[in-house]
Amino acid sequence: MTSSSAGSGTNITFLPLSDPRCNSDVCLAFKEAGHASQVEIPFASQFVYGHYTVYYYSTLIFIFSILYLYRRLSAAYEELPEPRTTAWQRTKAIWRFFVYRKFRIGMSFGHAMFIGLAVLFMTVLAFVQRPYLRPRLSYDSPPLGVRTGVMALALIPAIVALSGKYNLVTLVTGISYERLNILHRYLGYICLGLGILHSVAFAIAIYGDSNYWPLLEKVGAAEQYTGLVVLLLLLFLAIFSIPWFRQRFYEAFASSHVAVHIIYLCFMFWHTANRIDTWMYLYATLAISLISNFSRVFLRLKTPRWNGSTATIQDIEGKMLKITVPAFDGMTWNLGQHVYLRFPGVSILENHPFTITSLCEETYVTNKRGVSTRTPLLFLVKSRAGLTKRLMKIAQQRTTLKVFIDGPYGGHQLSLSSRYEQVILVAGGSGISAVLPLFSMLCKRTGRENSTLKRVRLIWAIKNRHALAWVQNDLKEALAMASPGMVEIDLYITGERNGAEQLEFSFEPDDIEIEAGLENGKRISTENDDMEEQRLIPK
Ligand SMILES: Cc1cc2nc3c(=O)[nH]c(=O)nc-3n(C[C@H](O)[C@H](O)[C@H](O)COP(=O)(O)OP(=O)(O)OC[C@H]3O[C@@H](n4cnc5c(N)ncnc54)[C@H](O)[C@@H]3O)c2cc1C
Repeated sequence: MTSSSAGSGTNITFLPLSDPRCNSDVCLAFKEAGHASQVEIPFASQFVYGHYTVYYYSTLIFIFSILYLYRRLSAAYEELPEPRTTAWQRTKAIWRFFVYRKFRIGMSFGHAMFIGLAVLFMTVLAFVQRPYLRPRLSYDSPPLGVRTGVMALALIPAIVALSGKYNLVTLVTGISYERLNILHRYLGYICLGLGILHSVAFAIAIYGDSNYWPLLEKVGAAEQYTGLVVLLLLLFLAIFSIPWFRQRFYEAFASSHVAVHIIYLCFMFWHTANRIDTWMYLYATLAISLISNFSRVFLRLKTPRWNGSTATIQDIEGKMLKITVPAFDGMTWNLGQHVYLRFPGVSILENHPFTITSLCEETYVTNKRGVSTRTPLLFLVKSRAGLTKRLMKIAQQRTTLKVFIDGPYGGHQLSLSSRYEQVILVAGGSGISAVLPLFSMLCKRTGRENSTLKRVRLIWAIKNRHALAWVQNDLKEALAMASPGMVEIDLYITGERNGAEQLEFSFEPDDIEIEAGLENGKRISTENDDMEEQRLIPK
């Protein structure tokens, strides 16, 4: 049976491929060429690249889960360290020396390695198979376009698994969400890169096949337009998450990110139209979101505090706030953990993270009337430009405020006092709030029977001496618990020139002996002329 093109009366069945009217399976040359293109690189074969993408990140997550499990199990049998540093410990220390080092691009070498490896893997995967395009789009979608689209889609479950305060990857690997956040962000950028490649491949294919244009008008429009919307939404998510934008418009970023992500997922369902296994990735994404959110709700239910707590806020020298919240039943936390504080009286929507500076202990504080309460949660909050500035203004007028607590999150599992002989803690300015609980705990452990700790050193750089007032009492309390000669504080005052005046500002002579920053007429480890060092050693 032969066919003629509409209205022209010409038989198109045997037209050569070069004839523009030979643009459907009715034309045998077209049909054969389309078949040959499918034999060379079948459309369905491209979907396996989504599986490779999943294998890639699942393997990494699996390795880290096993390591986490091993660490948790072996912690129970941990023995005291060898009297001398072993070769294995040295190797680990050298490894950490490199991978923890921060680059100017705002990430550590370790993170850069992960991201670099992911970029390399995705690039190789995207370009390994040729041809990238088919001779005509009418034969089928360009392989490069399909492949990169499926790979971008396969990344979505991982991006979501790495997001949020209580995420699935944190749950199985024990790595706290703040350290994973950078991977969440960069996987998002890789997803965007793949999305752009996907769109460019399709754009080139459409542009190069004029025979396809009439077809596009009839059937392809929804697919192309939803694709464009998906790309724009992804672009919005990626651009707004760049630190420059995030730091300047944090509240706008935080409130739009989740909402835009949900719209993005809806459009992805529409755009991918359940081709082969595309919706599996989207279902997996929804499942991961549900698990993370339910875990978070469960965590909140463990410490229900529906009517909030009363926080006491205190202004310290106009720069720092001391916020104290009574520790309620069920509220426990580990060293270095933080919570999100919401002050409905200041801003109902804003939720800000702050590190808990006090230790979670079953010690009780008894007031003048003899009433005992657990050690409260203490926060040292630096006054910045947003909510913290408003809090500072309030602190100058009144002392209590309602607060809702979400958490705790983050922290680390290192048992510093039983593993290491010497611990050096380094803090800059308000970063002391994260280091202080560790310092207090280590001071307490010095000289204990089961502790291998021999020396604790705190290095704290501050702009001016007034900053000492933020934690003066806490440092004094910590030092009072330490064994003599085991703890040392090196204080660097970086923003003042008058060193003599600085030395007048000190702890009580009974608590601490201050060595001036001069030794044999030379400065001790000062790094520039503006800097003066004070060495504080408990007597
Ligand atoms: C895990 C963690 C622990 C922290 N612990 C402490 C602490 O113990 N003491 C302390 O003083 N600061 C801490 N911070 C920083 C503190 O959360 C911000 O300084 C504070 O939220 C700024 O509020 P603002 O509205 O005054 O900020 P702005 O002046 O508006 O912005 C200052 C900076 O804070 C960032 N920021 C603003 N809102 C948030 C938010 N909701 N979540 C995260 N970042 C935000 C902005 O990106 C910007 O870079 C911690 C941050 C994190 C991520």
